[in-house]
Amino acid sequence: MAKVVIIGAGHAGGSVAGFLKQYGFDGEIVLAGTEKVAPYQRPPLSKAWLKGEADESSLQLRSEDFYAENAIDLRLGVSAVSIDRAARTVTFDDGAAESYDHLVIATGSRARKLPVTGGSDQGLLELRTTVDAERLKAALGQGKRLVVIGGGYVGLEAAASAKALGGSAIVLERMDRVLQRVASPTLSAFFTRRHSEEGVEIRTGVEVSAVSAHTVTLGDGSVLDAEAVLVGIGAIANDDLARAAGLECNDGIVVDLDARTSDANIFAVGDVTRRPLPHYDDVMFRLESVPNALEQAKQVASAITGRPQPAHEVPWFWSDQYDAKLQIAGLPFGADSQVVRGDPDVNSFAVFHLKGDRIVCVEAINAAQSFMFGKQAIGKAMAINPAVLADEAAPIKSAAV
Ligand SMILES: Cc1cc2nc3c(=O)[nH]c(=O)nc-3n(C[C@H](O)[C@H](O)[C@H](O)COP(=O)(O)OP(=O)(O)OC[C@H]3O[C@@H](n4cnc5c(N)ncnc54)[C@H](O)[C@@H]3O)c2cc1C
Repeated sequence: MAKVVIIGAGHAGGSVAGFLKQYGFDGEIVLAGTEKVAPYQRPPLSKAWLKGEADESSLQLRSEDFYAENAIDLRLGVSAVSIDRAARTVTFDDGAAESYDHLVIATGSRARKLPVTGGSDQGLLELRTTVDAERLKAALGQGKRLVVIGGGYVGLEAAASAKALGGSAIVLERMDRVLQRVASPTLSAFFTRRHSEEGVEIRTGVEVSAVSAHTVTLGDGSVLDAEAVLVGIGAIANDDLARAAGLECNDGIVVDLDARTSDANIFAVGDVTRRPLPHYDDVMFRLESVPNALEQAKQVASAITGRPQPAHEVPWFWSDQYDAKLQIAGLPFGADSQVVRGDPDVNSFAVFHLKGDRIVCVEAINAAQSFMFGKQAIGKAMAINPAVLADEAAPIKSAAV
């Protein structure tokens, strides 16, 4: 009977176990993770859960009984410390060693530390786990001020949640606009406007020179006080274990479209991977998203159970801030023009990024139809008429040539 050991019981690792069962795998499954809680969803930690609109149980990936009922050996609070590829064993920090036929590395990513004086102060907050989220939530509330360092999705969502809980928030961004790495200028301008309408202050082009649990010193010497300081400046792939085992890594574990690493018996999934993107000439990229974790989990489960490789999916992502539901499909690689459909000033629009006459990315705010159309157009490499695409009066489907 084949044995699969999964290191990391997060969204990707938990999903691999689930899909293996769904696809009829009848071997042994060990799912081991550092955190003390069963696999859960992280997105609500900065959104509904943080605002108190969702309870603990709604975070769970599967019901509590799922693992026992499916004979999945779930081990929580244990970390893998080494992989012996020749002997095909993994050693854990509790001294246990497990042999495997297939190993799946699903160790995710960790919050990047702020490289300034005080950057490793234990009183600073980050937002990755339920433990982090509990700390943050305890610091938010009526009249309390949150300072967020980093204008990325997690930071902006946390600022919106702080506001919803009756507090105030300031977001400090080093670049000249928020979301610079991950969104178009139109989208950055939209979120900047929405946050300022809600009373969240966004300061761009700001250097932070020192931090502590309750203060942030800026480059000009001024000091901001706060009940909580949240650092949200990106994530780093937890690929150390794989590197130590000699697997090919390049800021993430390098995998193919079966999520297989440079060792045929070892797979890797989720945030920790650098993977090919079939809709973008197989360019290698790190995707930090739930849809990616699920797609790769299906790839692994298919490869292990001998099913055909699943259909290639278009990468996508979402974010919720106030009444704005953002959905992004694709990536703007090689884009040479942009088409805006709808009006960014009325909170419902989409920015399409085109390369020649093909859509390569769509960023949609409260515009589900545009998102769906863009995602489909990317998947099918449809030729597009940009004038029709821009014309809100024309049905969006008629933009396909
Ligand atoms: C606050 C927040 C909001 C987000 N919002 C969105 C969103 O709106 N939309 C979206 O698509 N994505 C969102 N994401 C990203 C999404 O949650 C991640 O892409 C997803 O969780 C990746 O799954 P993963 O299993 O690869 O990593 P993780 O879910 O991080 O799981 C990895 C697990 O491995 C464990 N681990 C690490 N090293 C070891 C070891 N040596 N041994 C054992 N276990 C180990 C870790 O403790 C962790 O539990 C958000 C993330 C955060 C933090």
